Amino acid sequence: MTDPLLRVSDLQKYYFEQDTLTDRLLGREPKSVKAVDGISFQIQEGETLGLVGESGCGKSTTGETLLSLRDPTGGRVEFDGQDVYELNDLTEFRKRAQVVFQDPFSSLDPRMTAGEIIREPLDVHGVGSRSGRRERVQELMERVGLSAGQIDRYPHEFSGGQRQRIGIARALALEPDFIVLDEPVSALDVSVQAQVLNLLQDLQNEFGLTYLFIAHDLSVVRHISDRVAVMYLGEIVEVGPVDEIFTDPQHPYTQALLESVPRADTSEQERDIHTLSGDVPSPRNPPSGCHFRTRCPNVIPPRDVEIRQTAYREVMDYRERLESDEISLPGVRELAAGPDENPAELDDETLKAELWKELFTHQLEGENRATVAESFDRFVSDDREGAIEVMRKRFESICERQRPVLQNREHPAACHLYDQPEPAPETREMESSAD
Ligand code: SF4
Repeated sequence: MTDPLLRVSDLQKYYFEQDTLTDRLLGREPKSVKAVDGISFQIQEGETLGLVGESGCGKSTTGETLLSLRDPTGGRVEFDGQDVYELNDLTEFRKRAQVVFQDPFSSLDPRMTAGEIIREPLDVHGVGSRSGRRERVQELMERVGLSAGQIDRYPHEFSGGQRQRIGIARALALEPDFIVLDEPVSALDVSVQAQVLNLLQDLQNEFGLTYLFIAHDLSVVRHISDRVAVMYLGEIVEVGPVDEIFTDPQHPYTQALLESVPRADTSEQERDIHTLSGDVPSPRNPPSGCHFRTRCPNVIPPRDVEIRQTAYREVMDYRERLESDEISLPGVRELAAGPDENPAELDDETLKAELWKELFTHQLEGENRATVAESFDRFVSDDREGAIEVMRKRFESICERQRPVLQNREHPAACHLYDQPEPAPETREMESSAD
């Protein structure tokens, strides 16, 4: 295989909060938000890598950081063999690596005509004569499906799809090799999306372009990507050839994303959609170990605990709510009290019955049930720490202790369901404390 056009290694982009002068004087440690947390991937020349994940997972920050539009916290980006962050002059890189943004309305200056917007990169880089540039702009407009006669019109005079075509023509002006397409069709109607996707594919074939195609919707990347990388909370959790990602997804998060893609086939539309439990955790305080463990339907129980997967998910949800202070004794009292009852006067048995009713729809048996019952006993006695400890002791999962990594193969998934390297004891400790 030839060298990739783009190689991203362990890229990190953190934002630091609590880093004002007062914070420093008070000795407060800066708190980091790990928008991009050590990701690595590469893109071959002429290839399209789709980068997908829910909103806020770090996809756009990845695109902007690798283009050096944001300063990285760490890691390395090599473009055509050169370390981008070591370059003293980014002029040549800026010509060869371009970006198309999601919202064509806010990304185009409303005071400039379409012609001026497309011409601007040529002006900035001093490419061609004045009349040559106008000609080049007209040529680009026609190439992206606009008419050269629209050159003096303003963005508001174009439809959403046409505005995105202006953005694409601008990105093409300097004849780049690589374009980051940051949700380029998300703001468009479905029928227009298909036209713009076709245009992007035609341009790729004609000019041999290499794309990083960012989207939150897996179905959008399916027809344009050669490979797909799936991101969750700042990390890549799976990467592989597009067909394999769709037909044989490995990571439970990718599987859940695919479940949420609408299907045309009605028999499939009626299938039982596997919804994820819980919200996306805050990147300010991501879960330890596997970041997806607070929502994962396949979270792995300890080897010596026999429990159905669905019931284990409920056990883990209860633990999560306990540990994040999401359930409180006064809250349970309110919930359990009938219309004529005083919440403060409810006895412990009523409170525990309410906890079972609210938190567990699946039957627990034997030791598992006894452990949860003991935890409830402690909780209603106002011993939250004890309630947490009892649960942790029996139910702690490898998924919360060890951070899974991508294995070195063509279609890896960062998940303990697949082979993971055994971490050294000191690394294990470091991981738990860092997370
Ligand atoms: S490591 Fe565990 S929690 Fe994470 S995706 Fe795999 S099974 Fe789920």
